[in-house]
Amino acid sequence: MAFAMSFFEPLLDLLLPSACAECSLPPTVYCRNCLSRHEAHLVERSYFVSGQLAVAKKLPGLALSVLDDSVSRAMTAFKEKNQFAVARSMVDALLPDESLWPVDLVVAAPSARANFKKRGFVPAELIAERVAKRWDLPHLRSALTLVRRVEDQASLTVEQRQQNLVEAMRANPRVAGKRVLLVDDIVTTGSTIAEVARAVAAAAAEPVAFVVLAETLRRHAPSPHPAGFQVGPMASPKID
Ligand SMILES: [Zn+2]
Repeated sequence: MAFAMSFFEPLLDLLLPSACAECSLPPTVYCRNCLSRHEAHLVERSYFVSGQLAVAKKLPGLALSVLDDSVSRAMTAFKEKNQFAVARSMVDALLPDESLWPVDLVVAAPSARANFKKRGFVPAELIAERVAKRWDLPHLRSALTLVRRVEDQASLTVEQRQQNLVEAMRANPRVAGKRVLLVDDIVTTGSTIAEVARAVAAAAAEPVAFVVLAETLRRHAPSPHPAGFQVGPMASPKID
């Protein structure tokens, strides 16, 4: 399926009208003004290794933007209206030229079955494909599979999100021995990233870091990345 989407992607982009997914101005699907507003920044989430629930391991990550109302509109255009160029534009403009971590392989978080049936594609796979291309890394498609039914994370509370995904994924044995970069569209509590990392580690690979298009800053909670945690070279995002 991922292959088929890649094949039809340029065609779909041509058929859809081009206007910025954030500000709605033509002619591009994501204008330079809006893209230049974003700064890639380092984030961090924790995960647990199977069988060692007491030990939380830290996983560094890179978020290309913060999920404010404008970025939410862009995410909706990408995920619900098949505007694949939104994700490509963000990666091309905001991802650093080279990987920040030593990694061998890129994998994407899987979509809940209902979301895949509704959309016909896995957003994280398209992002992973672009990140892998930019960083000249192999991308193992469908590397993570859901081994049981899960609910859409977006509709759940923090506690429910964690419960929803416990031991829910299995990684392709081909990841064994690899240093793995995890990719998803949005990170909030980090429970999806945590389960991907656990599954990757359970398959004898090393989860090294993750990349997401946007980070949700939780209200009523301290900022997950302290002030001064910005990445210097990415302060002014490059366009083209
Ligand atoms: Zn714009």
